[in-house]
Amino acid sequence: MNIHEYQGKEILSSFGVRIQRGIVAQDPKEAVEAAKKLTEQTGTGWHVIKAQVHAGGRGKGGGVKLAKNLQEVEEISGQIIGMNLVTPQTSAEGKKVHQVLIAEDVYYPGDNEPEEYYMSVLLNRATGRNMIMYSTEGGMDIETVAEKTPHLIFNEEIDPSTGLLPFQARRIAFNLGLSGTAFKEMTKFVMSLYEAFTKSDSTLFEINPVLKTSDDKIMAVDAKVTLDDNALFRHKDYAEMRDEREESPVEVEARAVGLNYVDLDGNVGCMVNGAGLAMATMDLIKQAGGEPANFLDVGGTADAKRVEEAFRLILKDEKVKAILVNIFGGIVRCDRVAQGIVDAYKNMGNIHVPIIVRLQGTNADIAKELIDNSGLDVYSAVEFQEAADKVQEVLA
Ligand code: GDP
Ligand code: MN
Repeated sequence: MNIHEYQGKEILSSFGVRIQRGIVAQDPKEAVEAAKKLTEQTGTGWHVIKAQVHAGGRGKGGGVKLAKNLQEVEEISGQIIGMNLVTPQTSAEGKKVHQVLIAEDVYYPGDNEPEEYYMSVLLNRATGRNMIMYSTEGGMDIETVAEKTPHLIFNEEIDPSTGLLPFQARRIAFNLGLSGTAFKEMTKFVMSLYEAFTKSDSTLFEINPVLKTSDDKIMAVDAKVTLDDNALFRHKDYAEMRDEREESPVEVEARAVGLNYVDLDGNVGCMVNGAGLAMATMDLIKQAGGEPANFLDVGGTADAKRVEEAFRLILKDEKVKAILVNIFGGIVRCDRVAQGIVDAYKNMGNIHVPIIVRLQGTNADIAKELIDNSGLDVYSAVEFQEAADKVQEVLA
């Protein structure tokens, strides 16, 4: 689950990670109140107004702006709230901004120039260990750094049996070229950041930039945090951070009825029981020259009601030109699923695309007969390949 920058910062701060402080606001009036309150807390009169959407590259799209007084806070908030923010990470239509974070300006002048670093924490799937990726070249162009000068990005892998060790944090601070106060600050920052990562059951932290202020403080100016959905049951307070306005409407609906659905770009809708079979089905569709429109795992109970809910979700996607149903009848009997499909089809009355059904397992032969004799625009297949080929045939 993705969360907003301000929520990510709340989590970081709760583990002692220093952050650029801020208050979230829903309209320009709240923004001004937030700025006043922040000034009392921090003593700074300048603020940054930051669009809160689930997409990066906001700075490039005009979603992060500096305000030098309360009038500018009001004006800029008014411009950003309600806008469709287009960034390199959104679609061409952009994302609607519902709220802004009013944050203290931390790029104030002083003895040294502020410096921007990059830091992320994530699982290295090749080694099965968490790693901290970091670079001196933080800021808005980290993608270019990764592409053109990858040797400027460092890795620190963490042994799960010991966790992050202090010498590793010191190595990171050293490689970032720090000394004195900033060095100590960075080791503290890295240790607390990693603790936050593991204790919050996150799958990704991306802090870009990590800032060294002109007076040598180290803090998180941005926070992209992805939480592990499967661990939300033990973090009720994080689960409440979900912002459904940021998610695909179909996926939200699927979650409400307990279906596992992921929206994709192709034209072949899939209804499958079991995540492994669903992935194999998508591979097979691709191999036969098609493109899956979704991932959908209906789970163990593929009865008429569930089949109907699944059809309804799949058909919300106007790109869908055919549906492939691939069910293995182990616990559920195939004839019951077949009857469910026929009932759902008749009951809905608005299915306008051909359906290819492959049922294997208990009572598969009875199921095939049921489908073949239904008189509907539904085709049966026995073999996996046969089903995928049939899909291509009806699309041609
Ligand atoms: P992103 O573009 O979505 O990654 O949003 P960020 O939170 O990283 O902000 C974008 C850029 O805004 C940063 O790289 C900074 O250069 C700038 N920025 C963020 N906070 C401040 C601030 O307090 N003062 C100033 N002057 N610039 C800031
Ligand atoms: Mn950023």
